Amino acid sequence: MKVSILGSGSSGNSTFIEVNKVKILIDAGFSGKKIKEKLEIIGEDINSIKALLITHEHGDHILGAGIISRKYNLPIYITKESYDVCQHKLGKLDPSNLNFIKGDFYFEDISITPFDVMHDAVRTIGFSVKYMDKKLTLATDIGHITNIVREQFKGSQIAIIECNYDYNMLMSCDYPWDLKSRVKSRNGHLCNTDTAKFLTELYHEDLEKVFLVHVSNDSNCYDLAYNAVEFELIKNDIDLDLEIVKQNTVTPIYKSKK
Ligand SMILES: [Zn+2]
Ligand SMILES: [Zn+2]
Repeated sequence: MKVSILGSGSSGNSTFIEVNKVKILIDAGFSGKKIKEKLEIIGEDINSIKALLITHEHGDHILGAGIISRKYNLPIYITKESYDVCQHKLGKLDPSNLNFIKGDFYFEDISITPFDVMHDAVRTIGFSVKYMDKKLTLATDIGHITNIVREQFKGSQIAIIECNYDYNMLMSCDYPWDLKSRVKSRNGHLCNTDTAKFLTELYHEDLEKVFLVHVSNDSNCYDLAYNAVEFELIKNDIDLDLEIVKQNTVTPIYKSKK
């Protein structure tokens, strides 16, 4: 299992995953040109991508989705609810490249489990990617850790989870009150301390790598997010390989140990 985050935050999200030689992207929140270039940085050709999975309709997750689907004949997997509200942004897709997510789906013997998360889109999902005893789980925009989320992340070797804002920075930043209130609501984003608590709860011996993603530029900073999580882990005597993902950086490919 290999993973590289091509960038994450409110200016764009996209994640490359390779399992048993099957290569997929989750979200395409950069321009088509940028996604192609970002893949080249990690030595991957966009033509080798088998599918593009979409978490929800917000622009930072779909900006280049329609373009790369048309240009590289790339199948998109999206919920019907998300598609209905962003159809105009995706543009015309070849019907054979449009797949509505209804439940688990498969690429050869790799299974993908979508699960609902709380966020202020019409519908938002996270994904678990499983192959034999390997498991990777991702949730990038998530207002609240529900039992469904806990259950889905359980047993993952690689976890990709939002670490969006620092509460005090959010409260003192320039956002209007309604935006602050939206961000911190159960349908908004996850704060550093909630992510930290969730990870201490999730921790198990096989959890080998955690990517902290969707860090806000306005109400968080990378060191603060990393330190908040690290502090909670140390307090609980947990040693984890944590990587904070920056908006404009492509993370080097991480290969799971299993
Ligand atoms: Zn969103
Ligand atoms: Zn987002």
